[in-house]
Amino acid sequence: MPPISSMAHLFRKSEWICRLTPGFFFAACAISAAALAPASAGGPPPAPATIDECAYPDDAAARAAWEPMRGSRPVSVAEVDGQRCLSMACDFKGASTERASWDIRAIWCHDAFGVEGMKWEEAVRRLANNGFTAILPNMLWGGAAFYDSKVLPAAEKLAGRGDQIAECLAACKKHGIQMHVWKVNWNLGSQAPAEFVAKMRREGRLQAGARGEEELWLCPSNPDNQKLEIDSLVEVARNYDVDGIHFDYIRYPDADHCFCGGCRKRFAQASGLAIKDWPADVLRPGPAHERWLDWRRDNITAVVKAVSERAREIKPKIRLSAAVFSNWAADRDSVGQDWKLWCEKGYLDFVCPMDYTPSNANFEALVARQVGWAGKTPCYPGIGFSASSSHFGADRAIAQINITRRHRTGGFVIFNYGEPESRELLPMLGLGATKPAR
Ligand SMILES: [Zn+2]
Repeated sequence: MPPISSMAHLFRKSEWICRLTPGFFFAACAISAAALAPASAGGPPPAPATIDECAYPDDAAARAAWEPMRGSRPVSVAEVDGQRCLSMACDFKGASTERASWDIRAIWCHDAFGVEGMKWEEAVRRLANNGFTAILPNMLWGGAAFYDSKVLPAAEKLAGRGDQIAECLAACKKHGIQMHVWKVNWNLGSQAPAEFVAKMRREGRLQAGARGEEELWLCPSNPDNQKLEIDSLVEVARNYDVDGIHFDYIRYPDADHCFCGGCRKRFAQASGLAIKDWPADVLRPGPAHERWLDWRRDNITAVVKAVSERAREIKPKIRLSAAVFSNWAADRDSVGQDWKLWCEKGYLDFVCPMDYTPSNANFEALVARQVGWAGKTPCYPGIGFSASSSHFGADRAIAQINITRRHRTGGFVIFNYGEPESRELLPMLGLGATKPAR
């Protein structure tokens, strides 16, 4: 990220694209970038940013064409600088949005096959056309790979559909988009072949709750499981020219895991404590509780550290990152996710707390705390546009992007890239909030 002084310069240069008055975001759909761009020093004029001709006689017609998405405020027709535009109310502080070329504008894609109804090529092209700089596609789980792997079994759905990392990567190279391969760690996922699940069960590698009930996640203290997690991500780093490796579910499912027989044995061995009453001794207020919390954290951190070190050995410029829970101070105990430490130790190149809330005030409070925890490591907050715990419209996505810029995070990641987002969110963001400065 450039220093503040040069960022301010970029904002001034880019003011032309975001026509804002306090409280309103004008999506200048009829205005082409070529028409508004400052005179360039040479080369061809930039391609028009038109998304439609804005030929709406009135607000009702505009609303019919731009049906608000999950809580977006209704659009209306406006005129800005003599040009007809769509306008959409947006809850901003301040009078202008900051648009700049310095931040990472990223999106998670939960589906390994990309956006429904289109090939990776088109999905990635749309991101590039709307000013995004990075995609984080979910290509592997604890028990399934959506690419040619010698470490993990192939996902059942992959049959006949080709290597998805290779396909997505080719599109990213073509369109100049960074690709950070996202793994759902530990959790076997719905695509793990039945024989693989049975093997894990047979070998005692699955997690257990306090009463011994099975959880279809790999036990993080099991050395074979740690090796599987590490080897699978290192394989991706070695075999594909990707920009980054992205951890997710890099934690325990909750405070009530894992109490498998292996954990009992390995914890007793590591701590040197005689565990008489299992699991009561390790649960609050048992005598081994604090040691237990440390040990759980260590099991997760060991994997982050090993992947980071080995991936960088193979590709020194590869970037490691993680999607993490939002409240490190509590989550380090509850789910063993010590991401502040991972930042301090330099295991991560950036961290993405999942700040999924429709409340801009809550979002801002989370970001303000997290940038402190992340320290020198960039913190790119996750925006829950269409997460299971929060849904909202493009106006709020823009407001939350603005918040990340006010806090100088250097980037953000939106959840999630699917078909509705390709249709409605991307074009709206691409008109201003994510539009690349020229
Ligand atoms: Zn266990």
